[in-house]
Amino acid sequence: MIYLDNAATTKANDDCLQTFIKYNTDNYYNASAMYKQGNNLHKEIESAKQEILKALGANGGKIYFTSGATEANNLAIFGSNSFKQKKYLFSIGEHPSVYATAVAMQNMGYKVDFIPLSSSGEVDYDAFKKMLSQDVCFVSVMYVNNETGAVNNIKKIRELINGVNKDIKLHVDAVQGFGKLPLNVNSFGIDLCTISGHKIYGPKGIGALYVSPRCAVKAVTYGGGQEEGIRPGTYNTPLIMSFVDAIKAAVKDSATQYKYILDLKSRFVENLDSIKDKIIINGNGSPYIISISINGLRGETVLHMLEMEDIIIGTGSACSSSKVENRVLTAMGRTKDEVLGSIRISFSKHNTIEEIDIASKKLIEVINKLLTM
Ligand code: PMP
Repeated sequence: MIYLDNAATTKANDDCLQTFIKYNTDNYYNASAMYKQGNNLHKEIESAKQEILKALGANGGKIYFTSGATEANNLAIFGSNSFKQKKYLFSIGEHPSVYATAVAMQNMGYKVDFIPLSSSGEVDYDAFKKMLSQDVCFVSVMYVNNETGAVNNIKKIRELINGVNKDIKLHVDAVQGFGKLPLNVNSFGIDLCTISGHKIYGPKGIGALYVSPRCAVKAVTYGGGQEEGIRPGTYNTPLIMSFVDAIKAAVKDSATQYKYILDLKSRFVENLDSIKDKIIINGNGSPYIISISINGLRGETVLHMLEMEDIIIGTGSACSSSKVENRVLTAMGRTKDEVLGSIRISFSKHNTIEEIDIASKKLIEVINKLLTM
């Protein structure tokens, strides 16, 4: 099988799985317990947090572990906001775990506005600049779009914010960028940053929220006092330790992997040259993700035809793939047909050039066949 849906999820590293087993068997204790085993585990969790802060380029701040990026995004948004008289700005291209949370806030009576996208899939910086005012207290813009790979210039977003009011909090969902593209919460000026394990060859079901020293979040779930009461529940030590293993590996290898993935993507695009007038490449950002619209076809049909050849791709994000409309591509100005005919191909360190050649050849065959039917 050739797996090209790595933006949806990746295969976990072997050592992450070993770590997961170790902390469920040899070292399975409750990290909040008062006896020695608990204390030791608690110390290990604290040093895991320091590792993550280092990997994020943070200068102080906090890490709260969550069940994944969805929960971390909810915690960032609901946990740091309370002023109904202030304004909250969200990019319209956000993942549903941010977008749906923004809509929920709107339904609760908060003043929420959505920042439009340019045709490249990045935030429309001019429009964003005009939307900023003293009334705004919170901005949420993702680093890399999970459907198109468009990379938002977070430094520029922060500069535009600072031009109006430095106190505005900036939340960045960095799930598709962390461990893949350069990211430094300190120099980017990020206050709240979301990351997830299973996009970087770590386990599913774990993510984290970084909170900068100038920021604080309130609990949105209540229970025991773990994670300073901000995210209560027994520490999930096996997933935490396994996640940290994945982070260390991803950050260490990110520059070499970036180059490797860029070669895969370039080869893929080059290979599609013979059908270049039949497709549109939506955005050209992160090498890890390529979104293609094929006019006159349905992305879903292409996906299933390739599946019959044992090639796995995606249509948009997994979370929205069952829906006909596509908020992100529509916001980029794509027509209904281009939206319907979109597919997403996303690469990992496990893919080879041979796989890329086979997959692109099969994709061309499928497109040509479907277009003549
Ligand atoms: N944000 C982005 C940008 C994503 O790509 C995803 C996963 N599709 C999420 C958030 C949600 O991540 P998780 O599965 O860890 O909840």
